[in-house]
Amino acid sequence: MMPFNRTCKEVTALVIAREDRHLPWRERLALSVHMKLCDTCPVFERQVLTMRNAMRQWRHYEDPDEAVAEQGKVPNSTQDTTNQRIF
Ligand SMILES: [Zn+2]
Repeated sequence: MMPFNRTCKEVTALVIAREDRHLPWRERLALSVHMKLCDTCPVFERQVLTMRNAMRQWRHYEDPDEAVAEQGKVPNSTQDTTNQRIF
């Protein structure tokens, strides 16, 4: 009987739970053992990590008003077209 044997369903639940709380060492060990044996769970884990990074960047994204203003004003384009009229 494998003490750290987990099903893929249990492992994906652990990967998600790990985002919210600190896992006990038994769970973390079971997770890493399963990741070495399984083909699909590491892929899922990578997707969760990608999501976490994206969410962190979104959460730390500042000055949304400035970004909107930036889109509206089309920097230098009108000036450039008049200056670059070489006939
Ligand atoms: Zn698995």
